[in-house]
Amino acid sequence: MPTTSERRAAAAEQLIRALEAAGKRNTAQRYAICRALAAHGGHPTVAEIYATVRSDYPMISQATVYNTLETLRGLGALVALDIANHDHIHYDLDVGAHINVVCRRCENIVDLHLESVAPLLDEASARSGFEIQYEAGLILYGLCPNCRRRRSNRQPAAETRQPEEADDE
Ligand SMILES: [Zn+2]
Ligand SMILES: [Zn+2]
Repeated sequence: MPTTSERRAAAAEQLIRALEAAGKRNTAQRYAICRALAAHGGHPTVAEIYATVRSDYPMISQATVYNTLETLRGLGALVALDIANHDHIHYDLDVGAHINVVCRRCENIVDLHLESVAPLLDEASARSGFEIQYEAGLILYGLCPNCRRRRSNRQPAAETRQPEEADDE
């Protein structure tokens, strides 16, 4: 099993290769963006990657980060998830068929790799006649286990809709 740092290095390398293959000049800043993406893993936003890269490259602009992420997305190296009610696009390094489960309350995003996803997409395409655009990601919404626990602690009574409340940590 590769270690976490080996996996990150391989992931960063893959992104850098994708840029190279597309004829993009790999500047130090682009390298740093690819490394930050790989280190973050998960589903980072432009602002999160920008914050990481800026600590080493204070002169970098958020537009440069955004443009690089969009270039990678155009190359199929990243998936852009437009999650309802989130202010910003999340980028997903995992471009394989999987489900992103999003918590409505704490905004946590979890990857679910199910063998049934690829056949499901095929069947959805066959039945609808649509060409399914997986590059838009597959998103399900719900309440994560933590938020479910909190809800049941606070709400011993039956399911009633509560107004949005501030989360105390
Ligand atoms: Zn949650
Ligand atoms: Zn994902």
